[in-house]
Amino acid sequence: MYLKNSKTIVIKIGSSLLINENNIIRKKWISEFIKDIKELLKERKKIVIVSSGAIALGCKKLGINKKNLKLDKSQAIASIGQIELMNLFKKNFNSKKINLSQILLTLEDTEQRRRAINAKRTFDNLFELNFVPIVNENDSIATSEIKYGDNDRLASRVAQILNADCLILLSDVEGLYTKNPKIHKDGKLIKEIKNIDTKIEQVARKSIGMHGTGGMKTKIDAAKICQLSGSYMVIANGLLNRPIKNIYQKNNCTWFLPKISKLDARKKWIISSISPKGKLIVDDGAINALKKGKSLLAAGIINIEGKFNKGDHIKIIDKNMNEFARGLSSFNSNEISKIKGQHSNRINEILGYVTKSEVVHKDDMVEI
Ligand code: GLU
Repeated sequence: MYLKNSKTIVIKIGSSLLINENNIIRKKWISEFIKDIKELLKERKKIVIVSSGAIALGCKKLGINKKNLKLDKSQAIASIGQIELMNLFKKNFNSKKINLSQILLTLEDTEQRRRAINAKRTFDNLFELNFVPIVNENDSIATSEIKYGDNDRLASRVAQILNADCLILLSDVEGLYTKNPKIHKDGKLIKEIKNIDTKIEQVARKSIGMHGTGGMKTKIDAAKICQLSGSYMVIANGLLNRPIKNIYQKNNCTWFLPKISKLDARKKWIISSISPKGKLIVDDGAINALKKGKSLLAAGIINIEGKFNKGDHIKIIDKNMNEFARGLSSFNSNEISKIKGQHSNRINEILGYVTKSEVVHKDDMVEI
């Protein structure tokens, strides 16, 4: 069983598991969930919990409604709610002798390689100290352009950085159904997904009432990141008491299987970026060269979209607009607009300074 064999596990819990629709804390659930964590720790697994709830608990504290909050207001509320959230966890986990720490991440902490490596080191040290890190987005700081926005993708990126074996998304439904089971009697739970094809994407789009920020769409995005970075992901019903024991015993959930990957950690990080800043549309000649393991040169670039800096994540797209690869750009978007379509030996002359000739170096690129 996938969970049994997993050593490092990231568990994401949504606000609706911690606080019900009447704004009451689900105390019983929390204490049952802690029993699950205790068992996993007994099996010497490394656990990270990604928890939402800062905004929900902030609203509860202030007695205001979560709906239609403006961003700046929600940032202040998250700051109030985050300590409520940690207080709630600390009180309950400490009474069961589990030590907790807190890590608040902004998008750049996972999307810049140096910061991602640094974050990994912090997690590793916390595992060594026998502390369970509780992660959330740093909602008080992150603004809309630089936000994950949902904890599903945040959790998958954390799993990728940690090289985790499994990500558990505890949701308010069992998983992905072929059809909405509330309407269609023949709607069946999909137990295992190897390939996220257009059919699966369609099913996800139509799927039933999930209350989290992202719904099923962000869960599928998270699954793609996990597949590419070689970890299992499962969507399971978190509303049940002992939700993880339930996965072990009943396996009534949707598993996404990892793709076999020979990529090293850095390339896995490149391919599972959640915020590529731009696109380079390239011709067939460039695609053929890339397929042979060559770097991307300016001559093969037909067009460029987006504004980005040197070192940012970009997508490499073929002329039919299919994504072919991802990589880190060696030039900023302004420079590429000037040198696109040009032979490499003209770059220094066009830009007026001496620079490299590869726009995306082969070591900084991964084919999708
Ligand atoms: N970070 C947000 C919070 O703690 C939740 C984001 C989400 O629901 O995915 O309130």
